[in-house]
Amino acid sequence: MAFFKEFVVTLIVFVFMFNEIKSQPGPTSSSKTYCDINGGNATYSETLLSSNTLRNISASGCPNHYNPCLKPSDVCSSDTTEATFQNHKYQIKAYPCFANATYNTTCIEGAIGILRNGVVIYSQSGNAQSCSDAVDSEGDTFDRCGGHADNSGIYHYHIPPTCLLKQLNIVETQSHGDIIGWALDGFPIYGPYGQSSNMMFKCSDTTRANQNDCVDSCGGHSQHVVGNGYLYHYHMIGNVSDGVTDPVDPLPSSYFNPYSIGCFKGVLTDYSYVDTTNIYQCTSNGYNSTFSPEILSGVTTVYSSTDSSSNTNTFSFVIICVIFFAFMCIN
Ligand SMILES: [Zn+2]
Ligand SMILES: [Zn+2]
Repeated sequence: MAFFKEFVVTLIVFVFMFNEIKSQPGPTSSSKTYCDINGGNATYSETLLSSNTLRNISASGCPNHYNPCLKPSDVCSSDTTEATFQNHKYQIKAYPCFANATYNTTCIEGAIGILRNGVVIYSQSGNAQSCSDAVDSEGDTFDRCGGHADNSGIYHYHIPPTCLLKQLNIVETQSHGDIIGWALDGFPIYGPYGQSSNMMFKCSDTTRANQNDCVDSCGGHSQHVVGNGYLYHYHMIGNVSDGVTDPVDPLPSSYFNPYSIGCFKGVLTDYSYVDTTNIYQCTSNGYNSTFSPEILSGVTTVYSSTDSSSNTNTFSFVIICVIFFAFMCIN
């Protein structure tokens, strides 16, 4: 009997150790600058600075999910990533305002917002010169979560971030959902669903859009107040993928273009973020009279598209129960 007890204790210890090993992030690349291909290096934090007027955001820029390089095999092999550490730092308006004119982001090839998993968003453009639609020109390199790295290793999304949406429980039946990130003008960004669990479309897409809940050419709207009192917000729109298939499947249809932000409705704290010297002025507040800026938590837990970790945990729990009852019966 003593031997059996030792055996049971050893087995339980082994099951816990097995779980511990399974739950650790995968190995990082031999080069320190590369992100963990399995999503283990994501960081995100935000604080309010300067009497709460600035939202200070820091992130590693590494995605919290599997991020393989999906370019042709002569560029990268199937088990490598191109995403590298970026140490993103942005100070944006905590009290956004409406600008005297919109600032067109359509052809910018660079960050125009940052999401709560620390990944930046780009405009529809895959190339600053040609201003081509990135979904057309490079959609076959978007991974299962909808992102990819550019030639500088900056990992980014042009389209709705499927895996982050799933982690925030933003699904069509839940309607609208939480803020998924911030545009560099300080207005919040939401997922692709509207107030009535409807898919969001451009208002100009008159055959598909609900004219009471649709986005303007900037990719946002003022048709309802959100969060703590924002008078304007953006939606990343487009088909949401299954979060499993590489490359992303399905890709958003072209009628969702510009997918993310088509122009800034508000004013940036620093226009060098988007490589311009144009300075726009605030004309009115982008928030209501009861507004106070919220601080959002990051979503940096590794996203598992196969949900294998929870299956392992369930399996382990069943084994432990069986062993426990066997142990009790023998006693
Ligand atoms: Zn891109
Ligand atoms: Zn909305």
